[in-house]
Amino acid sequence: MPQAGGRGAYHEVNESIRGLATAGAAIETWEFFCECDDVHCHLLVSLTLNEYDARRAAVPALPILAVHHAA
Ligand SMILES: [Zn+2]
Repeated sequence: MPQAGGRGAYHEVNESIRGLATAGAAIETWEFFCECDDVHCHLLVSLTLNEYDARRAAVPALPILAVHHAA
């Protein structure tokens, strides 16, 4: 499935950040990158690992977005 624009890169970065987290830290807050469609956006989004995983587990998966940003 093709990725739109270059925003897939942030998805990969976010997955890497998620990979750094340990299993016992599900309620810790981590900084993830906004995955909106603005190529100039470099905002960070604070999410707990539980919140991040819930977005990734959704069908279809929900992007990580800053407030007022849209994918
Ligand atoms: Zn954004």
